[in-house]
Amino acid sequence: MSMRKLSDNSFEYSCDSCNRKPEIYFGDFHSAMKEAKADGWRAYKEGSTWCHRCPECTKERTVLGKSFTKIKG
Ligand SMILES: [Zn+2]
Repeated sequence: MSMRKLSDNSFEYSCDSCNRKPEIYFGDFHSAMKEAKADGWRAYKEGSTWCHRCPECTKERTVLGKSFTKIKG
């Protein structure tokens, strides 16, 4: 799992495909997710586990023509 709850109003997102430093988004769960999504973060499922990809990696994959499940919120 690559999204960690730090407190009731801050969530840390880290990328599952590179070692980029985690980013912290503030707000409740949905606001934080919305912010992350607006920044280019994407969530996708691997089996039953949610994984996340940072904007950089999402960009690369988009160029290759692959798409990921968009974060709902
Ligand atoms: Zn990445």
